[in-house]
Amino acid sequence: MDQVRLLSELFRNQKVLRKYLVPLLLIMMGAVYVIVLSTGGVKFVFSHSMYFPVLLAGLLLGSRGGLVFGVLGGLILGPFMPLDVLTNESQSTLNWLYRTIFFTLIGGLSGFASDCAYSYLKHLKWISKHDPITKLPNRSALFHQLSFLKGKENTQGDFVLMVLSFDNVTELKSAFGFSIIEEAIKQFAMRFKLALPNNELIYRTDSEQLALLLRNQNPDELNEQVEELVNRFRLPFLFNGIPIHIDTRLGYVVFPHVIDSPDVYLQKAEAALLVATGKIQESVVYNPAIGVTTKQNLRMLGELKNAIGEGQLTMHYQPKIEFGTGKLHSVEALMRWNHPKLGNIPPSIFIPRAEQSTLIQIVTEFALDQAMAQLVLWKQEGLHIPTAVNISTRNLLQPDFVESVRDRLQSYNLNSNLLELEITESTLMLDMNRSIRELQKLSDHQIAISLDDFGTGFSSLQYLHKLPLNYIKIDQSFIRKLPEDEGAIHIVEAAIMLAHKMGMKTVAEGVETQEAYNCLGALECDIAQGYLFAKPLSAKDFSVWLTQHQKNLNKF
Ligand code: C2E
Ligand code: CA
Ligand code: CA
Repeated sequence: MDQVRLLSELFRNQKVLRKYLVPLLLIMMGAVYVIVLSTGGVKFVFSHSMYFPVLLAGLLLGSRGGLVFGVLGGLILGPFMPLDVLTNESQSTLNWLYRTIFFTLIGGLSGFASDCAYSYLKHLKWISKHDPITKLPNRSALFHQLSFLKGKENTQGDFVLMVLSFDNVTELKSAFGFSIIEEAIKQFAMRFKLALPNNELIYRTDSEQLALLLRNQNPDELNEQVEELVNRFRLPFLFNGIPIHIDTRLGYVVFPHVIDSPDVYLQKAEAALLVATGKIQESVVYNPAIGVTTKQNLRMLGELKNAIGEGQLTMHYQPKIEFGTGKLHSVEALMRWNHPKLGNIPPSIFIPRAEQSTLIQIVTEFALDQAMAQLVLWKQEGLHIPTAVNISTRNLLQPDFVESVRDRLQSYNLNSNLLELEITESTLMLDMNRSIRELQKLSDHQIAISLDDFGTGFSSLQYLHKLPLNYIKIDQSFIRKLPEDEGAIHIVEAAIMLAHKMGMKTVAEGVETQEAYNCLGALECDIAQGYLFAKPLSAKDFSVWLTQHQKNLNKF
């Protein structure tokens, strides 16, 4: 079948036609004519031998070619051609007419059949490279384009492959049906097109995914373009006249040349997209740390369970410092995975994946065990350092979570006021009422609760006073902008005032500079955490840091 298609395409190609086919057919018809003449007319040579070139013309040139050659064939063997050179008998006009009509019909019909087959093949070819609903080129077209670029010089910049996906798809489908996704894909493809000056092709690489390949991109322009795209994607889109909000995520990968197979680039862009989804960020660029493809990701999760047993997971401790006194207030325990082959895997990669599975239960149990074991060791050294452990909402919604924490504290013989739990604002939203009940039980056991990443979630203000919180941790994205950004100052100031009014303390996370620290002090923030004091440290390094810190404090 493939050969037939190839042959047909070859002959339909205009250049080949012009060069070989038409002269060949004319020669064939001339040859039949000469044979008829030279052998004494149709008495000796079957006049129907003219069918062959006419039929061939129809098949290979389509209906137009078939008709032209049909008429020509009829004319060649027409009334002026002697049928019999011996008797000089000529053909009757009616016969000539019949024959011309017959040849024309044969040429036309075979041409029509060939046209149908050809347009069907063309459609098959189109459909193999396009999405039939939106008419956008598909994943295979993108791979084809990347293969085409393989090994080609790209001296004027980098290639960028972007993928865009929707986050709240299930919610949208259940509210409006499947057609909303098709409509969203169409409208977002249009937004992509409007934001890009060079008419780049937009590909639909999955049912809920669009991709874009940019060439000759320079880094500054790219940042601007990503920002512009994200801004456009934030706008609501219209579905049956109703403005709808869609959470979009953009993952992209930058590469100077196409050297690998095309799917490698798409996988990398999709890995960045996965991180964007996990971190609830609008756009993420691929970097080697993300170099854990979906396949590896799954394998990684499979390995996570064993990693605990094999000692690949450890906890690091980052100090939190009291404003005013500069004393150590407490520490946050942060997980580290030292994978034997992949090296250090950041928690931002494996925690969000673990949170989507029951593995988070094991991960949190490990974090609690390690932190408590460390608390016992510190206690033996006479140190009482409250330690914060990060937990996920999934943990909180486990039926026996509160009891398991309480039992653990008992088994380590630890006072519950040495333990803090950090939970993020956005994940609390999953089941706010239940979360409030469970947090209240923990709080009743004197376990301190921190609301992590404050300011990145939404609409929690109405619940804030219902949550039994001790601390609000203002998200790093605001702290990093201090003291230059006035907007950030206002937000941080308002968060601090709000927390104080509700009897909670504030922790500023991600304090990297003295200026930010001073600014926060002026805003009456209570506690600071960040690289300005220390990065998360192993227990051993932490005790070195602590000794040094206390020495420094005593100097003043
Ligand atoms: P998080 O709870 O918001 O933790 C703070 C993150 O900010 C940590 O990243 C910390 O290393 C980083 N950080 C602290 N100070 C600074 C600073 O001054 N500058 C900058 N650039 N970064 C700073 P890390 O350790 O990579 O953890 C990332 C996230 O992974 C954490 O965010 C938390 O959500 C999650 N995570 C880490 N360990 C655990 C764990 O044991 N259990 C759970 N459920 N989640 C964890
Ligand atoms: Ca935290
Ligand atoms: Ca945080």
